Amino acid sequence: MKSLKPLLFSLFTCAFAGVALAGPTVTDLGDGGIRTFDGPVEKYILFNPPTGISHAGGVMNWYYNDANRPAAVTKSATLAQIQASQAKWSAVCKITFVYKGETATGFSLPTSSIDGVNVIGWDPTGLTAPTSGLTQVAWDGSNHIVDSEIRLNAAYSATYSPSSNFDATLTHEVGHSIGLDHSDVSNQVMSGPPHTAYDGRSSLGSDDIAGCVHLYGAPGGGGGPAPDTQAPSVPTALSATATSTTQVNLSWHASTDNVAVTTYKVYQGGSFLGSVSGTSAAVNGLNAATTYSFTVAACDAAGNCSAQSSSASATTQSPPPPPTCSGSQPPNDQQVLSCPAGEAGSVTQSRSYSCVGTTWTPGAWQTTGNTCTTVPTQSYQDMWWAGANENGWGLTITQHGDKLFLAMYIYGAAGEPMWVVLPTGTWNAAHTTYTGDLYIPTGASYSAYDVSRYSAGASVGSASVSFDTSSTGTLSYVVRGVAGTKRISRLSFGAVDTTPITDYADMWWAGAAQNGWGLVLTQQYHAIFAAWYTYDATGQTTWFVMPNGSWTSSSTYTGALYRTRGTQVIGGVYDPNALAVTQAGTLTLTFTGTGSATMTYTVDGVTQTKPITRLAF
Ligand SMILES: [Zn+2]
Repeated sequence: MKSLKPLLFSLFTCAFAGVALAGPTVTDLGDGGIRTFDGPVEKYILFNPPTGISHAGGVMNWYYNDANRPAAVTKSATLAQIQASQAKWSAVCKITFVYKGETATGFSLPTSSIDGVNVIGWDPTGLTAPTSGLTQVAWDGSNHIVDSEIRLNAAYSATYSPSSNFDATLTHEVGHSIGLDHSDVSNQVMSGPPHTAYDGRSSLGSDDIAGCVHLYGAPGGGGGPAPDTQAPSVPTALSATATSTTQVNLSWHASTDNVAVTTYKVYQGGSFLGSVSGTSAAVNGLNAATTYSFTVAACDAAGNCSAQSSSASATTQSPPPPPTCSGSQPPNDQQVLSCPAGEAGSVTQSRSYSCVGTTWTPGAWQTTGNTCTTVPTQSYQDMWWAGANENGWGLTITQHGDKLFLAMYIYGAAGEPMWVVLPTGTWNAAHTTYTGDLYIPTGASYSAYDVSRYSAGASVGSASVSFDTSSTGTLSYVVRGVAGTKRISRLSFGAVDTTPITDYADMWWAGAAQNGWGLVLTQQYHAIFAAWYTYDATGQTTWFVMPNGSWTSSSTYTGALYRTRGTQVIGGVYDPNALAVTQAGTLTLTFTGTGSATMTYTVDGVTQTKPITRLAF
């Protein structure tokens, strides 16, 4: 603040007399002002009696303070209205307003600490309705205004209704700010107080113009407002800030114009991008990690534009670096899977890890090896034995597809014939070993069979047959706690005869009503070996065999039926020399189809006939 001659200050208000103001009081200028040129009629009044004052050089530099601005009006609208009101005065006399930008400086008037900053802003507490605005001016001994401040009522929405009075009020207050007191002439912007004297007046009146010209002279010597040919000032303080990989935000200080700045044009690399109305802009759609240079120019409503501002550059943000995983890539996983049912071999799969986000993540399993092969259908169906050294006992294997039904025809501790069956089992993965539970049922005597007395009983153990060739294998068993193994092989009993014949080999039974006993037919060429497993008079298992029958017709096969006794097979040392073979009678099979027959036997003088069919399993 420069050194001043003794300061005075004056206060102009548009309020009614008696409005209470905090701090400053309204100074009554009385009739001390100059009353102009047409004699006795009071017209414009200057507020510094008697000589009048003005802004030095006819220039008023001013600042805007946006603090306490009411929500009812935007900053841009406020600035636009201030500049529009100022423009009305500039249009009629040689007063020039230079907008110096926004300031945080508050009102210094009417205190004694006059700071020389001409502030136009909002007063949140010092004004109450109906006061709409208040202008305070200080001047020095050279009749130059050194501080001029306009307070607008921060209760804008309540006191500036209708809103058009914002225009009238600001134009009125600007008139005060350049040195005019209230006019004594009606229908002038400077009429009043009260504010109702100028409410709604958007154009300066003749007395308003006369007062302004008196202080500052006529504009360019012309009678009316000159056409607007003045470009706004060049925007300053342009800054550019990248806010993302695609956006840069721009901001700059407002330009001033003799009328008003209406738009700002934004350029990138000298190319026009678009216009905005405020002093900031967001530029989108840019490339990442790229430096761009921007400029802005200010334009008014008449199309006058400033030169482009100094450039400001910003580099858009770089895309985030690719995520990384800690540690080294884990080795591939591997797994071995079983083959589908009915196939032998295995499937080997592996999967590798890749970095997903920050985590090593396994990919999908990929098959790297497949040794699965369909197990060829190998028939094990036959009469099997443990060789000549164990002559006298054996086992039949009946095969349906993949399923085996094993029946062992052996001797108990007392040498009595007995049998053990393995009705269901499973193959190992290699399809070489068949394993299942063993049963020794009880039932009624064959001579008076009663199905109600049949009982499979609980499993007595288990057995498995491991085939090492198609005709040899190892029988392993545990029967009632006694374990053992026997090497077994097919028993050859049929002479070679390739004449076609129906294959009757199977497990036959007499139906559900006779469930519990059966007849296993093993066939080699035309020879049939029949093993009848049934029950004796005590209900225990017993069996008969017909090893050497013959065809007596194309459908009838008959022969001697034998019962045998021998040494204990399971849990004993078998002695083939102890085998005793006795003919029990005869057996005749009459086939009525490939799957049906009648079984007629005479055992111990008793003859019975049973219809039989193949047993499904
Ligand atoms: Zn006033």
